[in-house]
Amino acid sequence: MPLPTEIPGLWFDPAEMLIGGTWRPASQTLPIEDPSTGAGIGALGRGTTGDIDAAVAAADAARWGDWGRTTATERGRILARIGRMVLARADDLARLEAADVGKPLKQAKADAVALARYMEFYGGAADKVMGETIPYLDGYTVYTLREPHGVTGHIVPWNYPMQIVGRSVGAALAMGNACVLKPAEEASLTALAFARIATEAGLPPGALNVVTGLGEEAGSALASHPGVHHLSFTGSVAVGRMIQAAAAANVVPVTLELGGKSPQVVFADADLDAALPFLVNAGIQNAGQTCSASSRILVERSRYDEVVARMADRYRALRVGPAMADLELGPLISARQKAVVEGFLATAPEASVAARGSIVADAPAGGHYVAPMLVAGPAPDHPLAQDEIFGPAQVVIPFADEDEAVAIANGTQYGLVASVWTDSGARQMRLAKRLRAGQVFLNNYGAGGGVELPFGGVGRSGHGREKGFEALYGFSVLKTVAARHG
Ligand code: NAD
Repeated sequence: MPLPTEIPGLWFDPAEMLIGGTWRPASQTLPIEDPSTGAGIGALGRGTTGDIDAAVAAADAARWGDWGRTTATERGRILARIGRMVLARADDLARLEAADVGKPLKQAKADAVALARYMEFYGGAADKVMGETIPYLDGYTVYTLREPHGVTGHIVPWNYPMQIVGRSVGAALAMGNACVLKPAEEASLTALAFARIATEAGLPPGALNVVTGLGEEAGSALASHPGVHHLSFTGSVAVGRMIQAAAAANVVPVTLELGGKSPQVVFADADLDAALPFLVNAGIQNAGQTCSASSRILVERSRYDEVVARMADRYRALRVGPAMADLELGPLISARQKAVVEGFLATAPEASVAARGSIVADAPAGGHYVAPMLVAGPAPDHPLAQDEIFGPAQVVIPFADEDEAVAIANGTQYGLVASVWTDSGARQMRLAKRLRAGQVFLNNYGAGGGVELPFGGVGRSGHGREKGFEALYGFSVLKTVAARHG
């Protein structure tokens, strides 16, 4: 039977949601839009409060049932199997993501490979998280156990659906939690595909439940559900505040990853040839819709003009087009996001626009395309240099010395990622300490995004850490056992 959608290669019905191991049709649907054309291409399930109730109950049953009794080694094997199956279907997943999110195919494929890598990493780590014994009073033996929270809620945005599902659900499952996942309404297809693959790989019923739908309906119901024992949220600061308030009402821990305004600080002694690809790519990757995008480039004044000129050359060569054309940039996710980004760009005085990229002539008229823009020399307190634009735009700002560089770099409400380009080892060490960020990169940016590297912010960028081993501690609870035996 043909599926009610026009997405090539889709092998399932996106109006079905996974609850307790069963794919259930949603009672209502939402349109699925292709951001490259603006056209409707299918119907997505619109989960209700009742669906969330059922998913939380199914997760709770799994937690105390088969899934709860699965050994750490077996959990690791299941995750590793999911990883292999994701890798085998990486091209299918990439095509789904390209249609759903507008992500250029190569970038979508990289996300699918990263999803597989999260499963491999957390599969391997599942049976390596250990408690400890604690020397204590005579007649006692004391040890600690690392136990799952129980039911974990995962609310995921649209910009990197596969990577964010991988890092948060992967770590939670590795520790034995049972998950309820609410993907973004703009980008749910690969989360549903992932859940199909995980089920085929032998993940027991209820260990992973997926309820699609709107943030203010399904998302809000999940965040405030008293049966959820831990919340993991990635998205906007405004919604992050609501999630934290909901978590506070139920007194449950919450991990928030809320974006940033991440700087790259370029000193006069930097190897500019090495730095230049990172300076631009870290800003325009995924059309700038990246929480760890580097949207501010700070340059020591003696090389400022040179950096602006060389970045401008790169910007003029950037092309924006449909996801399937696989150019450097695809469209933004939605008309709403395009309007927000264009609103920001309109505040740049024309004289400060150092360069623009271009939208290809045959890009469909209904797609949400924005030409990338490089802005030179705005005041550090200009909105373009302070606010998360979440689109393809970067500002370049000069600084006089190390103290001014640190002051500007730390001078926003965010603190997610920062990088330093300099040949001086002493300066690298100083700035690694002085910069206010969850990750600092020295003579690189992002280090290839390795799943092994703990990630998260300070300030308005959020709190808690995902990725790496650190996430396993976040998705578990430490219990102290003290035995008195004389
Ligand atoms: P958002 O915060 O509204 O949505 C993220 C997720 O939260 C989605 O799954 C959404 O359904 C859910 N959600 C929305 N309202 C909710 C509520 N009341 N209760 C529970 N869940 C809710 O983000 P957005 O609207 O998609 O994007 C807006 C801005 O957020 C962007 O411009 C960008 O600045 C930022 N953003 C940041 C990241 C990041 O990685 N840090 C990702 C996406 C968006």
